[in-house]
Amino acid sequence: MKELEERILKDGIVLDGGVLSVGGFLNQQIDTGLLSRMAEEVRRLFADAVVTKVLTVEASGIAIAIAVATAFGVPAVFAKKSMTSNIVGDVYSSSVHSFTHNRDYRMTVPKRFLSPLDHILIVDDFLANGAALQGLISIVKESGASLAGAAVEIEKGFQGGGDLIRASGVRVESLAILDSMEQGKLVFRS
Ligand code: 5GP
Repeated sequence: MKELEERILKDGIVLDGGVLSVGGFLNQQIDTGLLSRMAEEVRRLFADAVVTKVLTVEASGIAIAIAVATAFGVPAVFAKKSMTSNIVGDVYSSSVHSFTHNRDYRMTVPKRFLSPLDHILIVDDFLANGAALQGLISIVKESGASLAGAAVEIEKGFQGGGDLIRASGVRVESLAILDSMEQGKLVFRS
């Protein structure tokens, strides 16, 4: 998506450790016009798919999940992150390694929010090594729901997570794919 790529070039900040900060327009402060246009683009990309719910993981996925769910006219559900391994209640859960915080966490979704009748579109802000998406995919599989695919705002293609997930047969659509961020220079996949 050209508008998103241009905005990343203008306002994105490359941090140490291969992290791209988009806090000024996608994460901490949100450009709501851009958010809506990204959601419409996701709806266009998945126009042929049946989607009954949009699923993400807190916290940074929630904004785009709500926008995409609004575009489809369906509910948005988010997985909670908990640092404990003792899960209380009736939940689907998955253990995930966080790329940005370099630690493991458990994501959980109450069973009552996902049913085998659902068709789930997973969304997130970033796709790096793919751990967050894999965790969400595993929860969808556990629930017996169908997986329509996954849509992310920014894929860091050089980390390989997206290619691995595509190779496993899941449809992954990214609004911007970065092939490199070396020495602060951003190169997008054409
Ligand atoms: P993965 O699990 O694919 O390795 O990483 C994806 C998750 O880590 C996303 O949910 C996102 O919140 C976070 N993340 C990964 N890379 C970046 C990055 O470069 N910038 C930001 N802001 N978040 C990232």
